[in-house]
Amino acid sequence: MRHLALVLIVLLLAAAGGPPLLAAPGDISLVINGDLVETDVPPVIVRGRTLVPVRVVSEELGAYVGWDDRSRTVTVVSGASRVVLGVGQSTATVDGRPVTLDTPPEIISGRTMVPIRFVSEALGATVEWDPVLRRVTVTCVSAAPGVRGLAWEELPAAARFIVVTSGPVSFETMALPATDSYPDRILISVKGARVEVPPTIAVGVGGVTRIRTFEQETGGLHCAQVVLDLTRPVSDYRVWTTWEGAGLAARGELPVSLLGGLEAVVVEIPRQAPAACRMLGLEYEDGSGRVVIHLDGPADYQVWELSDPWRVVIDFSDTILIGPQGSLALGHSGFTKVRYAQFQVDPDVTRVVLDAERVRPYSVTRSGNDVIIHLGTAATITGLAYEAGGRATVEADRPLRASVVRLWDPDRVAVVIQGALLSGALAGGGTIDYEDDLVRSLTYEQSLSGQTVTLTFTLNDPGATAQAAPVPQGLSVKITKTPLAGKVIVLDPGHGGSDPGVVGPDGVTEAELVFAITSRLAEMLRAAGATVHLTRSADENPDKYERPAFANSVGADACVSIHLNANYRSSVSGSETYYCDTHPESRRLAELVQARLVAHLGRPDGGVRYQPNFPAVREPLMPSCLVEALYMSNPTDLALIMDPAVREKIALAVYEGLWEFFLTP
Ligand SMILES: [Zn+2]
Repeated sequence: MRHLALVLIVLLLAAAGGPPLLAAPGDISLVINGDLVETDVPPVIVRGRTLVPVRVVSEELGAYVGWDDRSRTVTVVSGASRVVLGVGQSTATVDGRPVTLDTPPEIISGRTMVPIRFVSEALGATVEWDPVLRRVTVTCVSAAPGVRGLAWEELPAAARFIVVTSGPVSFETMALPATDSYPDRILISVKGARVEVPPTIAVGVGGVTRIRTFEQETGGLHCAQVVLDLTRPVSDYRVWTTWEGAGLAARGELPVSLLGGLEAVVVEIPRQAPAACRMLGLEYEDGSGRVVIHLDGPADYQVWELSDPWRVVIDFSDTILIGPQGSLALGHSGFTKVRYAQFQVDPDVTRVVLDAERVRPYSVTRSGNDVIIHLGTAATITGLAYEAGGRATVEADRPLRASVVRLWDPDRVAVVIQGALLSGALAGGGTIDYEDDLVRSLTYEQSLSGQTVTLTFTLNDPGATAQAAPVPQGLSVKITKTPLAGKVIVLDPGHGGSDPGVVGPDGVTEAELVFAITSRLAEMLRAAGATVHLTRSADENPDKYERPAFANSVGADACVSIHLNANYRSSVSGSETYYCDTHPESRRLAELVQARLVAHLGRPDGGVRYQPNFPAVREPLMPSCLVEALYMSNPTDLALIMDPAVREKIALAVYEGLWEFFLTP
């Protein structure tokens, strides 16, 4: 049918006064594997041989085509065959042997044209020429190229994804942005190839969550698509093949067992932030009921429990699992299995899960870099001691790990110890009263599941916090003064004196409102032990450069300007915080303050904004930010600002932001 249609079209063209049937050079048709192939530069006959654009060879015959600009040579590789032709050169090589050509490749209309019969036959295809229809028919007898295997490996600086192919193939790669349906991804499109691997493989390495493969017709061309689904956009990936020069040099780096003479397309994605630690493996000691997790560094981990069914989760942050995920059967104290997997990548989290028949005692300790899970044996807490000055000691039969949670209203610090039992006189829980300037009382209690002990220190110092560290026989807890103690903080109430700032409908001024807020904030900070300086008194208006210069002159640790906003559109409302990059920590300060403002005020979050044009944030040499707490031009915001309780919240928000800022130096 196809042949008939072609003949009809040609006849119709002839009847309509089109090109004569046999004479025109441009009317040679090309049929490859049964499909009529259209080319931008049409096939031509030169000295009795048909030349076609080399693109046809890669796209239609599925061969790999390389072009070397310097030597003006084309390399065509398919399966085991390798053909090298030079433009204008009458000698080509086939698998290294020289062969004389009647008609060498030529460049016509900017396209490299190659003799189709010679190339096709060298690649094992058969070629027929029909002089009446002026048609070249190429039929591939070699097997279609295929995607034969997928592999990946984690290197110190990159993750490498290996697409094993049936031989050298023609392919394209591209990075695609996320859409509603798909994440960011890298696409490897292998021309003319079949997929011989499972459609979806979970990966979890180097920011790649999974690899998907499928076959697709695009633009009339059959392709094998290999898609790396990413957790983040990637622009700096590198692609090479094992059959190109660079690839051959790099082949030695590849796992020999994997490649073993196979050809592959390799995509390398650099690591964003190399993980601090590697999990090397797990070992189950049946006799002692211990699971030993081997790590190559001091990994940070969190332990928690999940219910339905009850299980224990240990997440190792910034840790890569070496090797595939897996599990070990346990059979000790009601624990049935331990599972381990790379739970998240970039940032890397390796997760270990303990499955059990029901709630069971356990504890987790550290020995060197290794982390040990003790099945069926919770740590036993036998004593609690607190000495004035903030040092508390928890006595136990082994080192304890705890997480510390700061709570407000009333001010408390909770020390949560997983896998521990209160014993002896402590069993059943209780409260011990202290009266020193840091701690009022200590409450100790066993959780309902019986696996967790919580120590709650109620604080006398509203700014105090705690750190906990394991010791050989238990845990050491240090209650420390507020992170604000001893800090020098400059507060800059906006405007003042002759400059009222924004003036509200009933004459209230931004200058007086921000002065009230700043004064309250100064009280709070001083109560927490900070030294606070204001840039102005109630009715002064220092120059906008004098204010940051003052902060620099007193050697402040932080500087915060307080303003209220206005916009000609009264619908605009909410909280914003500005910063500049003069000090690298300014953005962190702005983010912490902004988060507390939004949490306390519940108004629209205008976010943190980079602003190099405000001297108030550009000139200070220390971390600084400028708060635009609410809009005086918005009726809802203004009603809030007029409420003293809300102004108290604004002061508290900045206080808490500074508190958190200095907690992590
Ligand atoms: Zn202002």
